[in-house]
Order: sequence, then C-alpha cells, then structure tokens
Amino acid sequence: MNLIDVHCHLNHEFFKGKVDDVIKRAKKAGVVAIVVSGVNPASNKEVLTLVNKYPDILRASLGIYPIDALGIQPEGAGMAHHKGPIDLEKEFKFIEQNIDKVTSIGEVGADFHWADKEKTYAQQADNFRKIIRFAIKIKKPLVIHSRKAEEECLQILEEEIKNKEIPVIQHCFSGRKSLMTKGTELGHYFSIPPCIVKSSNFQTLVKKVPLTQLLTETDSPWLSPYKEGMNEPAFVTESIKQIAIVKELPEEEVAAQIWKNYQKIFNE
Ligand SMILES: [Zn+2]
Repeated sequence: MNLIDVHCHLNHEFFKGKVDDVIKRAKKAGVVAIVVSGVNPASNKEVLTLVNKYPDILRASLGIYPIDALGIQPEGAGMAHHKGPIDLEKEFKFIEQNIDKVTSIGEVGADFHWADKEKTYAQQADNFRKIIRFAIKIKKPLVIHSRKAEEECLQILEEEIKNKEIPVIQHCFSGRKSLMTKGTELGHYFSIPPCIVKSSNFQTLVKKVPLTQLLTETDSPWLSPYKEGMNEPAFVTESIKQIAIVKELPEEEVAAQIWKNYQKIFNE
C-alpha cells in the first residue's frame, strides 16, 4: 500500500532531532509522501529546508495561517513565530521564488476559535481572498484551515473558485452535515486525521463524502489517535483503517483510491 500524509508539521519543535526516526517509521508503515505545512514566513523557510533534506518523501506546502496573518499568534506554540501581521505580497514573492519546491498553498483560511469573529472577520476574509487568487495565479492546490469558520470559508471559496481552477483540500473539516454536503458538491477534497478513531464527526464526514474525494493526513504532532504521546505520519494507517470500516471496503482498496486522489491533486 502507498500511504500519504497530506498535512503535518514536522518542523514543530517536538520533532527536533527526531525527524530521521519519524521518517523511518513512516516508510516502514508504507507512507510514500508527507506534505509538511508552513504557517508563516519563518516556518515556510523551515519547511523548505526540511524538504530539501528528505526530497524522496517530503513535500512542501507553504502557508499563511489566518491567525499568523493577523499578527495575533501567541509565542510558544512550538512553531517558528512571526511578529506582527504578515505582509502577504512579500510572502507571495517568496513562494514564487521557490515555486519548483512548492507542492501546495496551506494552511490558509479563517479561524474564529483563536480570533474574535466580529473584530477580525473582514480582515480574515480579505486576506483569504488574496491568498486564493494567488494560488489560482500560480496553479497550486489549496489546503484549508477553517476552525469555527467552515461556513464562511466555503462561501468565500465558492465565490473565488468558479470553475474548479485549482483543487481545494479541507483539512480536519469540522463543519456540520449540510456544510459537508456543500463542500462535496463544490468538488472539495477532505483529508481525514487518525483521531477519526474517536471522533464521530469525522466518521460522519467519511460516510458522506465519496472515496474519490477523500485524503489522509495527521496534522502531527497534534491530534494523536492514542491517549498517550504525540501524533506522527506513520499513524495515517489508523485513518485508512477507519475509512475502510465506515465505507465497508478492504483497506487496500481505500489506500489505492486515496493514493490515486493524491496523484491527481498534486500532479505526482
Ligand atoms: Zn495543521
């Protein structure tokens, strides 16, 4: 089986000095591609450095996390920190300079969990629209973070992407059922983390979305499927197992289709 992790943060400080072993365990589990996501200019640089070191398996997704874009990300989240609001144009230039190394744009989107909706919605929406237009211009898939902002993100994506110009991947989507349907109808992909083991919401999502629109991710080091310890790319096996159970299909068939989806989206 060729397994994939389309969203994780191997540049998180938790993985310092452990990346060799984490990649070894991932390969042993059957993982053949790991997309590492940046969240701001400093972490995007880290992602590129890491991907250059392990080009056989790592891919770079360069992102502008909505909270970092606003400049309100607190220090100490374990990721490279950016002080003040992000200069989008400057970061777009950086991404274009490294375009050969960039697999996708993300994570990007909106967040009303960490940011006050009333105070920040206009700015978040404005940033998000600019980022979507940039992704269309450079023809790269988008990886979406939409915590407590699922409806708004879908709305903006629907308005900005009229003819499926680029693939959209909803990462850890937690919207209600009607929004799952809306995303599916818009042709979005949904990447499923291993914590689906204990999440009825992700199980419902897998039930509602066709296998041709599903992907697997870990969001590691966060969202571990287990009580103890942190998450890592090898654990996408848990996502595959659970999708197979919900869809009542053999794991091999699930993994093969998700690998196909991945190849189609990322041109691999
Ligand atoms: Zn993430």
